[in-house]
Amino acid sequence: TLDLPKTTDDILTRDVHLVQSWADLNSLKQNGATTAIVEAEGSYVTDSQGNRLIDGIGGLWCVNVGHKRAEIIDAITEQLNTLDFYSTFYSFTHPSAAALATKLAELAPGNLNKVHFGNSGSVANETAVRVLHHYYKRLGQPSKRKILSRHGAYHGSTHLAVAMTTPHYSDGWHKAEGIVHHMRKPHYWREGDGMSEAEFTDALLADMKADIESIGAENIACFIGEPIMGAGGVIVPPAGYHKRAAELCAEYEIKVVSDEVVTAFGRLGYFFASKDVFDFQPDIITTAKGLTSGYQPLSATIMSDEIHEVISGPGGVFLHGMTYSGHPAAAAAGLANIALMEREQIPQTVRSTGKHFEATLKGLDDLDIVGEVRGSHFMIGIEFVKDKETKEIFDPALNIGLRVARKAQERGLIARPLGHILILSPTLILTPEQIDTIGAILRESILDVM
Ligand code: PLP
Repeated sequence: TLDLPKTTDDILTRDVHLVQSWADLNSLKQNGATTAIVEAEGSYVTDSQGNRLIDGIGGLWCVNVGHKRAEIIDAITEQLNTLDFYSTFYSFTHPSAAALATKLAELAPGNLNKVHFGNSGSVANETAVRVLHHYYKRLGQPSKRKILSRHGAYHGSTHLAVAMTTPHYSDGWHKAEGIVHHMRKPHYWREGDGMSEAEFTDALLADMKADIESIGAENIACFIGEPIMGAGGVIVPPAGYHKRAAELCAEYEIKVVSDEVVTAFGRLGYFFASKDVFDFQPDIITTAKGLTSGYQPLSATIMSDEIHEVISGPGGVFLHGMTYSGHPAAAAAGLANIALMEREQIPQTVRSTGKHFEATLKGLDDLDIVGEVRGSHFMIGIEFVKDKETKEIFDPALNIGLRVARKAQERGLIARPLGHILILSPTLILTPEQIDTIGAILRESILDVM
């Protein structure tokens, strides 16, 4: 048995040695962590004070099937009892990695039939780029290395992944290296500038074409995009944007990488969103989070047969992979998670419960400080504004998102503040009653800070 701290004080004493992620470390040093989560079950977590809270962010957009599902825990245990670890380096393989790769090939759209595993969304995206650099080198086009991304994107925290993320976070590194070009954020409500939505799509596509022409398609490996931007504020692009962007890329022989770290595994009502929701066929899908519903760290870079055919041609070695690529326990968790989703028809259910969630939260837009509630199904962002007409935002020092989140937590709901935006990405197993409760808590919490 592990010697784990039990009381809040014990946890906080040991927490001084933990460096949190994406955190105000100075505030943590002064004040300590605010919440210690000690248990979880279904759509609820319990903190060290004994408060039972609705997990409105699904861990971190990832606990799709809910917490403490025995099927997944048993599958992990069974796997560890049979084979705790072996790698997929060189010519080694093992049953769970092989079976999960086969399952993902079956679920992924079109000819996406080959899977490389990693341990995080960041790594899945880095892998996509490494695969494509290798691919173009083998095709005798080594200059095709640059990456088209977008302002507002979030593709991870490792060095290249953060460079592909919106520029603010990468401290200019992408510019120094000259590898990533950020295009406009496809946010109609903020950037539409009096245009109709269709005109806005035209403008985005015209800009993209101009960027490709000026950089030179011979220098561009890929366009990477989230079907719906998540951490950038839950931005749903205008109708037709992804399909037309993919067509434009095909015209210029630029590969399309769909970052489905958040949008896959039922969050939008389908196993993958690119084809089923947005009607475009990527060349690579990257995914993580809901792949195991967070029970084990695992990511996948799912590539087309065509790309794999080139990188597996004669001569040369694919010099890439992590020790834990396709870890047996993680792959077992992925298999059990997908089996559970299929048996309980979770994606299908989300098509109705997710719509109820979306409508409930969109109903908050009558409140004076709610500028836009956007997103789809179980992926929602609420943007607060000081002035509904001008869309002026609150002074960042007011921490409006954090204040609403704190009020919500007092009422029994965890939501995620992101500046002046509040993010909701709950488990996908919420009942209509629980959804109504979330709506009511959010309404009261917003009214509290007005
Ligand atoms: N891509 C997207 C769309 C994400 O939302 C995230 C994480 O939130 C990542 C990539 C990075 O994943 P990870 O944190 O597992 O590295």
